[in-house]
Amino acid sequence: MLPATLSGVRVLLVEDDDGVADALVEALRAHGHEPTRVRRGADALIAHRDNEVVLLDLGLPDEDGLEVLRKLRKVDPVPVLVLTARGDERTVVRGLRLGADDYLVKPVRLAELLARMDNVVRRGAARSKEPDTTVRVSDVEIDLDRRRVTVGGAEIALTPKEFDLLAVLARRPGAAVSRQQLMDEVWGDAFVAVSRSLDVHLTGLRAKLQRPGLLTTIRGFGYRLGE
Ligand code: CA
Repeated sequence: MLPATLSGVRVLLVEDDDGVADALVEALRAHGHEPTRVRRGADALIAHRDNEVVLLDLGLPDEDGLEVLRKLRKVDPVPVLVLTARGDERTVVRGLRLGADDYLVKPVRLAELLARMDNVVRRGAARSKEPDTTVRVSDVEIDLDRRRVTVGGAEIALTPKEFDLLAVLARRPGAAVSRQQLMDEVWGDAFVAVSRSLDVHLTGLRAKLQRPGLLTTIRGFGYRLGE
């Protein structure tokens, strides 16, 4: 049996096209939801709080939607459904890697949008019940919310970039994370030339952790935290 359709969902719609936005707002209201609409990425980064799902257009007037997604993900685990006019694979893959929960290619079909929105909201509700945001790998504790790291019980001071790198690895302990993914999540675009910068920050991070073997290099691919 299918679960009952959700209603009364607080939806943030980030869409600069008035025609598209008006139609979606009207349709969402007609299905009992509570949409709020903003036009710009900067507005989305203010208005996301208290919403249960974000519908994010990628072609925004002030900032690329993927960049908005990256910033949003640093502060809010709210489910994000990307609305893209570009169906191109690289955009979609990057969107999902940056933490989008799902995507829809425009023009959006309403029934599909509602069904997928339901899905990501339900998954988001389950996710937000996960209590622990501290990752422990041997005697290293990484508090992802408070951005604090202790080694053997003593707090160490990391630069923001060093912490960001460690956090990306700590969210997938034991898993191989590619250099491209690290650069995507920390700098925003792997195609910006930051490869050397990544090495510099990783060297700094390793020196401060003082736990050789904790952060493994996977030759030709990337890195892994822990076993
Ligand atoms: Ca647009």
